[in-house]
Amino acid sequence: MTFRAYLSLPIVLVIVMLTGCSTTSDELDIEPRAASGLLDARQLTLEKDQLILLNGEWSFYWNQLLEPSDIESGIGEQTDYLEMPSNWYKYKLNGNNLPRTGYATFVLDMQVAEPEQTKGILVPVMYSNYKLWVNNQLLAVSGEVGTDSKQSVPYKSTEVIYFSAPTQHVQLVLQISNYHNYAGGMLEPLLYGSSSAVQKNHDRNIAVQFILFGILLLAGIYHIGLSFFRNKNTSMLCFGLFCSVVSLRNTLVGEVFFTKLFPDFPWEVAMKIEYSCLYLMVPLFALFLQRLFPEESSALFTKISFILAGSYTILTIIVSADIYYLFLLYYQIFIVISLAYAVLLLLRATYRKRDGAVFALVGFSAFVLTSLFDLSGFILQRYSWQSFHSLGVATFIVCFSLVLSKKLSTSFNMAEQLAQQLTEWNESLDKKVHERTLVIEESNKKLEELNRQLQEWSLVDGLTNVSNRRHFDDFLNSQLIQCAKKKAPLTLLLIDIDYFKLYNDANGHIQGDHCLKEVARAIKASLSPHQGLTARYGGEEFAVVMPGCNKENALAMAQILCTAVRELGIPHTQSLASGDVTVSIGAATINPEPNTNHHVIIDLADQNLYKAKSMGRNQVYSN
Ligand code: GH3
Ligand code: MG
Ligand code: MG
Repeated sequence: MTFRAYLSLPIVLVIVMLTGCSTTSDELDIEPRAASGLLDARQLTLEKDQLILLNGEWSFYWNQLLEPSDIESGIGEQTDYLEMPSNWYKYKLNGNNLPRTGYATFVLDMQVAEPEQTKGILVPVMYSNYKLWVNNQLLAVSGEVGTDSKQSVPYKSTEVIYFSAPTQHVQLVLQISNYHNYAGGMLEPLLYGSSSAVQKNHDRNIAVQFILFGILLLAGIYHIGLSFFRNKNTSMLCFGLFCSVVSLRNTLVGEVFFTKLFPDFPWEVAMKIEYSCLYLMVPLFALFLQRLFPEESSALFTKISFILAGSYTILTIIVSADIYYLFLLYYQIFIVISLAYAVLLLLRATYRKRDGAVFALVGFSAFVLTSLFDLSGFILQRYSWQSFHSLGVATFIVCFSLVLSKKLSTSFNMAEQLAQQLTEWNESLDKKVHERTLVIEESNKKLEELNRQLQEWSLVDGLTNVSNRRHFDDFLNSQLIQCAKKKAPLTLLLIDIDYFKLYNDANGHIQGDHCLKEVARAIKASLSPHQGLTARYGGEEFAVVMPGCNKENALAMAQILCTAVRELGIPHTQSLASGDVTVSIGAATINPEPNTNHHVIIDLADQNLYKAKSMGRNQVYSN
């Protein structure tokens, strides 16, 4: 589901709830009103499921707690008529306002139609407590009505009562006392109608409040949970706490579920919780907005709201209701300022096209508008309009939940995209690494081959393809050490082509080179590799190093080589030793010691070669 599709949710919710609420206002009729303690409700047709408010002038007995029998016998002394619902503090007796504390009895005589049919009355929350008789029957009690602060026990609960009357005359006797709350009297009006109408209204109120409570509680738990597991997200935490605070307050107003769940919970504490929740809602929401739209918010305002709410909460916890009530008005003014601040902030965010700003604005406008509607209902005494406020709060919570869920899903989507990108990069990186590795492996092989060749070239004589002088030196030195260790003999043959200068002179250098190659090949071919190493010693001289070869074998080997060259049959017309190319060989065999220098064996072989030359060439000389 796309974010746009979510739009339908609050709209559907609004339509559903509007339909529900519209019937509520149809059922209610503010007429008739009580005058001089008398209310003519005969025009109310009970079949039509109509409800009327028992508003207007009730007979008022100040500082008297009278029961129906007392009224009947005329014991009580009526103070006046009091416009209900109201608190008696507003009433002026002998020019002075009545005190906040005290007790009173209120009486309303009603004329009703179809008396035999069961009727009902919804008794809302009173300022502190009440006792209600209908036609001499005590039908509703909340707390304890008393004549002093000890006897008078405040309690917050709503009641639904049912009765039928023997005649058209119905008398309501209502006792109220107050020693604990900031005001005494009736806070909201009583609702009267057929039993089914009253029941329906009551059921709907409960349903609406429960739905709202459910939405708030779930939104609270959900967002606190989210912030708990993802502690970076303070906007979630603020919203979760805000919803939790509003849901807690929700249980303490309207149908007052809280007292139904915990009947013995102290009234005083419940009131403190209710007001503290009211105070804390503002800074939590301000902080939430600041986290959501930091550019449009004022950190100073959030700070001020925290300081104010904190101070008010502490004050409420410490002092009693009559004192903290004195300061309530200023906080209400601050709430109005906060609302204006939030609206401006959201308008700005919407104008700047901030993510989720439109939703936030819609939700908050729903809340503000329905609050104003509720307020005007309170002023006009259309209490049914309260349902609109519940609707507003629900829309508000849904919209802001959507803003947050959109934020969250945007982060999720981004994380997913990044993860995918990363996987793709990783894959392509793997591929690239693999390709590069192959290339490197290939060039490594080439390099190794090249190195091998280079090494070979560095050890091999370019013309004759036998080992060069450097290789000869290394080999001779290493074999001297090896043979010294093994106590084995070592033979060196120095081979020199006879009259080669003359061969060159007669045949040219190219032919000379060719002759050198042939001689080298013949020498190498006469030796198996494990017998020794053949090398070009320099010019037209060759050397054969034979580790482990003794004198006898050396001589034999030298003879073989001498013959092998001669048998090549390369004509050498200038040679004084033969008609073909021949070599003279000086053979030297020693038993090397660990410190024997290579000069020893080379010199010896050289001397023997010299001797072979001087003895007529084309021969071997060995010492
Ligand atoms: P002897 O029998 O006393 O050894 O006489 P020789 O002429 O062989 O000795 P000599 O040292 O006087 O001359 C060696 C010649 O070898 C001189 C030079 O022209 C020839 N020579 C040396 N290196 C090469 C080579 O790489 N190619 C060719 N073509 N000739 C070479
Ligand atoms: Mg020579
Ligand atoms: Mg020579």
